[in-house]
Amino acid sequence: MRALCWHGKGDIRCDTVPDPRIEEPLDAIVKVTTCAICGSDLHLMDGYNPAMAKGDVLGHEFMGEIVEVGKGVKDLKVGDRVVVPFTITCGKCEQCLKGNFSVCENSNRNAHLASKVWGYPTAGLFGYSHVTGGYAGGQAEYVRVPFADTTAVKVPKSGLTDEQVLFLGDIFPTGWQAAVHCDIEKTDVVAVWGCGPVALFCIKSAFMLGAHTVIAIDRVPERLAMARELGAVTIDFEQESVVERLNELTGGRGPDKCIDAVGLEAHAGGSADAIMDKAKAALMLETDRAHVFREAIIACRPGGIVSVPGVYGGLADKIPLGAMMNKGLTIRTGQTHVRRFALDLLKRIEEGQIDPSFVITHRMSLEQGPEAYRMFRDKHDGCVKVVLRP
Ligand code: NAD
Ligand code: ZN
Ligand code: ZN
Repeated sequence: MRALCWHGKGDIRCDTVPDPRIEEPLDAIVKVTTCAICGSDLHLMDGYNPAMAKGDVLGHEFMGEIVEVGKGVKDLKVGDRVVVPFTITCGKCEQCLKGNFSVCENSNRNAHLASKVWGYPTAGLFGYSHVTGGYAGGQAEYVRVPFADTTAVKVPKSGLTDEQVLFLGDIFPTGWQAAVHCDIEKTDVVAVWGCGPVALFCIKSAFMLGAHTVIAIDRVPERLAMARELGAVTIDFEQESVVERLNELTGGRGPDKCIDAVGLEAHAGGSADAIMDKAKAALMLETDRAHVFREAIIACRPGGIVSVPGVYGGLADKIPLGAMMNKGLTIRTGQTHVRRFALDLLKRIEEGQIDPSFVITHRMSLEQGPEAYRMFRDKHDGCVKVVLRP
């Protein structure tokens, strides 16, 4: 089959690889009908994850049709239409039973690697390096889905298009969880760093959950325009001081809730912390560029919440712990517990409360994947979100 494979920093190819097979009784094979490229894939493309190996099949936002099931699969049948969350979940461990699906205790085949880096293992993830299980991803014609009954989410066969339900597997619940983590009250001003696909779902979700005002920060004109279309007030971080402008827009109080929807590859121009990050990264003393996280902690109103859907992988320095502690901030973060939200969000799509396809700007074939990755990374041609059809 054809699949998008990682071959090194900046080197993604559409290769021919062996078709996946049922390996365990709880597996299913899904024929992928639509998949997408996520901002998290860019961290792999840009070489931020040392646990990638040449030839790894990428992709963790995908959906399709079940074409084969293992002996132990009970709920899913050949022909079912499914969206597959990026988190592989056993459905039985204590964390799954609590709804903490992204930290499932049984799905990471390389638990020992994850324990070394993070103290304890987290869930297996599709197409997301050997620290999270080394599972082949879904930017491919076919994909093996372990623990299929409890990992895949069945969606109705008709009524909704792939493009309307695809993002239930990642960026819609991710934006939603980030907003839920903010415990939004109706007087709240929510500041969102980033206007990428995840941030756009944070903005939309914050409004759906009742935020009074959302302020969105980025520098890419078409992304800022999309945020304004959703009702946000915007700040261009290259034109204005973010902290000063947030202070002005909130009558000197600061935003009640802050969302870092940027993560470890934040741009920071020539700011002092950016120069330090660059130097430290060159000396291998630091891995993550935490500019946005630092800025959110400084900008946040005392007693507020900083919610972090943006991905961080390793170590960062100069985190303003004093501001965090003395202002009494709450920090909430995590890979998304996709399954916790998927059915509720599917219902909201069915009811017409939201049509997640609004973020899509580009539709391409799997063969065009390498070009699509570059376009998404470089924000060429107004690219905000690409979907690929294998
Ligand atoms: P993206 O790369 O398209 O978007 C990032 C945006 O941040 C860009 O528009 C960029 O211009 C902007 N940005 C860069 N520096 C900034 C700064 N200093 N201030 C404000 N904006 C800045 O990616 P995406 O798909 O929107 O994903 C965003 C983040 O969410 C990534 O880190 C991704 O890995 C993460 N993510 C996390 C989960 C999860 O489960 N927690 C799921 C999906 C994605
Ligand atoms: Zn993702
Ligand atoms: Zn589990």
